[in-house]
Amino acid sequence: GVIWYDGKMVPWRDANTHVLTHTLHYGLGVFEGLRAYETAHGSAIFRLQEHTDRLFNSAHIFMMKIPYDKEVIMQAQCDVVKQNKLTSGYIRPIAFYGAEAMGLSAKTLSVHVAIAAWPWGTYLGPESLDNGIRVKTSSFTRHHVNINMCRAKSVTTYANSILANQEVGMNGYDEALLLDVEGYVAEGSGENIFIVKQGKIFTPDLTSCLEGITRASIIELATELGIPVIEKRITRDEVYCADEAFFTGTAAEVTPIRELDNRIIGSGKRGPITAQLQTLFFDCVKGKAKN
Ligand code: PLP
Repeated sequence: GVIWYDGKMVPWRDANTHVLTHTLHYGLGVFEGLRAYETAHGSAIFRLQEHTDRLFNSAHIFMMKIPYDKEVIMQAQCDVVKQNKLTSGYIRPIAFYGAEAMGLSAKTLSVHVAIAAWPWGTYLGPESLDNGIRVKTSSFTRHHVNINMCRAKSVTTYANSILANQEVGMNGYDEALLLDVEGYVAEGSGENIFIVKQGKIFTPDLTSCLEGITRASIIELATELGIPVIEKRITRDEVYCADEAFFTGTAAEVTPIRELDNRIIGSGKRGPITAQLQTLFFDCVKGKAKN
């Protein structure tokens, strides 16, 4: 396969960077994750504009200047999918600092962009979309301040997510739930969370979670269905006692949560509202419905 690297398509094995790459040492870099789906009109990248906008916003938050126009980066993502002959799959753009100098100032360094794509199935296990997953609250928290700036999808932000995911994975759970520093529910290691209670949908507001693009489409779909969506702080207890719960994300798509911290949620199966939103979501990404 090929990877778009600083404006050129290079063979997969040649898309390398120097060990003194600044981002490798200090962790300041930004990335995105997108999915392409097979539609009636060929493969299509879901919410390409929104993901590209978020990539540039993440870079802006970190004062990193991406040396390409948005249009170039959008076209490059389409080209990577096409040249790798993918009908569906995952797309990973990353922007990182070069290897010209060590030390904390990155102002004078070059910024590089690479975009890879590969086939990717269900993220949280083959049965996860139908049967739901078992989630555990992690001891690692999601901070909305300092290095863990929430609006940025940055390399730096992910230390906590990786540690949380590994911590619960080692104990046999499928995914981690991270709380914010005050103990409210923030998000999964790479997903936003929703709960359903008495016909209403609740999801944490954006204080301490990533502004997920899947989250936004689920809010739109639910609103179109006439289901009220309330964005507010939620507690673990509210998740334990919810009728339904689910994660959303580009990788996880719409994944039901059947258990949190060994408490069964609702019926312990994918709930009816989750199922309805899941179907609508897959119709949208596959171009069968608007959104
Ligand atoms: N929260 C975190 C920490 C993530 O990494 C992701 C994945 O990108 C999400 C939420 C979901 O965001 P999106 O739906 O834009 O993929």
